[in-house]
Amino acid sequence: AEALLRKTEKLSIVGELAAGFAHEIRNPLTTIKGFLQLMSKNEDPTNKKYTSIMLEEIDRLEMITSEFMVVAKPEATKYQTIELIKILEDVIAFLTPQALLKNVQIQFDTVINHVNVYGDEHHLKQVLINVYKNAMEAMPTGGNISTNLTIEDNYIAIEIIDEGCGIPEELMPRLGEPFYTLKEKGTGLGLMVSYKIIEAHKGKLEISSELNVGTTVKMKLPI
Ligand code: ADP
Ligand code: MG
Repeated sequence: AEALLRKTEKLSIVGELAAGFAHEIRNPLTTIKGFLQLMSKNEDPTNKKYTSIMLEEIDRLEMITSEFMVVAKPEATKYQTIELIKILEDVIAFLTPQALLKNVQIQFDTVINHVNVYGDEHHLKQVLINVYKNAMEAMPTGGNISTNLTIEDNYIAIEIIDEGCGIPEELMPRLGEPFYTLKEKGTGLGLMVSYKIIEAHKGKLEISSELNVGTTVKMKLPI
């Protein structure tokens, strides 16, 4: 309970303040990127080296700001009745090309034909993409990701199960902390944003993991 409280406090600070900054940073970033792209056409090798480093760093800034912006504009969220199966199928179709490149199969079979949830389609897709991406990144040599749907009381539970590296037990409480990442190119924002979105939907996000066996992320949404 203590870890949860700390997480929630951080979420509200991050969500309201930093997200505002992220929004303001994006426009100048786009301008700088445009001019850098022009400059990178210059054939001088030193110039090419510097501009490519700068472009890489800008990509990273863009990634960070866009992840913040998902939670940045609560007025832009559009809650409506949505078909969850359709959302899952869309996300899996979107991710399948990059999954196949990494030798990863995303599986999804269900006997549940349709289930309605009340929520923001764009935000829920963002959570699913974050979770599937983490699953893929946990399996650098490939493997299977399974997707299970179950109905539990008044919730629909989506389980996304990977066969990846797993998460050491002592690191579990840190999941969802802003900027907490073990990846060289990670932002440590995916889970923070996901927790925040699921919380806003009055749902639950639970993660269980076994080192070198795999990780299960369970999202529960009220139906
Ligand atoms: P990022 O992916 O940018 O590192 P996230 O917030 O998405 O940030 O995840 C934070 C950290 O949680 C990851 O760096 C990783 O160490 C751990 N993690 C999340 N999902 C998984 C998973 N499916 N398998 C193993 N580790 C995971
Ligand atoms: Mg991630």
